Amino acid sequence: MKRLEGKSALITGAARGIGLAFARRYVAEGACVAIGDIDLARARAAAAELGDEAIAVEMDVTRQESIDSAVAQSVAAFRQIDILVNNAAIFTAAPIVEIDRNDYATTFDINVGGTLFTLQAVARHMIEKGIPGRIINMASQAGRRGEALVGVYCATKAAVISLTQSAGLDLIKHGINVNAIAPGVVDGEHWDGVDAFFARYEGKAPGQKKKEVGEAVPYGRMGTAADLEGMAVFLASEEAGYIVAQTYNVDGGNWMS
Ligand code: NAD
Repeated sequence: MKRLEGKSALITGAARGIGLAFARRYVAEGACVAIGDIDLARARAAAAELGDEAIAVEMDVTRQESIDSAVAQSVAAFRQIDILVNNAAIFTAAPIVEIDRNDYATTFDINVGGTLFTLQAVARHMIEKGIPGRIINMASQAGRRGEALVGVYCATKAAVISLTQSAGLDLIKHGINVNAIAPGVVDGEHWDGVDAFFARYEGKAPGQKKKEVGEAVPYGRMGTAADLEGMAVFLASEEAGYIVAQTYNVDGGNWMS
């Protein structure tokens, strides 16, 4: 049985990685998906792969007019937005004594401001239309605890967990459920960048950091986007109606270890 039949979703940062995997899975579960991304060429390629059930929308989550336009294009294509996945984010890392104020501002603007103001725009649409919507924010184990060299990214993901709680408590009176997923370490292009950073700062050989973090996961390997899809479908589904303002670890036990 398809679990998202008749639903429409907007997924930010869905041109690649976890967001793209969610888009593929949502379409397989019967949903229509708007792939919102700052990288329009890759968003278009992803939408083309998914066929009539997907559209690409150019979207920079740091710009209000871009958020509003992405919401309007999604509504024009699919009549309404039932599900929002706030997935777009960037990873930045530096020792505390080297954190650059511009990097700090940009990372907060995308990871926190982008999550907040996309959530706000979509929540307004859901309230106006009386849609019992589902909003899923992508947090991280990095939001559960600080990590050396990753101070700003960790702080942004802690803010996403906090926003999920506040928005979840605020919006449930409108029948809108806001929850979050906190992945551990998930292989993909994002982690290729992380690995390159640690190669530079810790003198590790390329691929070494990835190997180490994978071996340290209690489950025995790094996660994949596919490991997260079940939670993304569940939180978007009818079954999750009584779940409010929660953040779920999907991390192979990594955070606990
Ligand atoms: P990714 O870097 O592969 O993909 C991020 C996407 O966001 C890209 O397509 C990029 O073009 C887009 N994007 C960047 N800036 C944007 C902007 N201003 N507006 C719109 N789109 C923008 O990342 P991923 O690994 O797929 O991670 C997806 C989410 O999961 C992120 O929120 C990330 O923080 C979180 N997460 C990832 C991991 C991991 O190990 N990969 C772990 C925990 C949490």
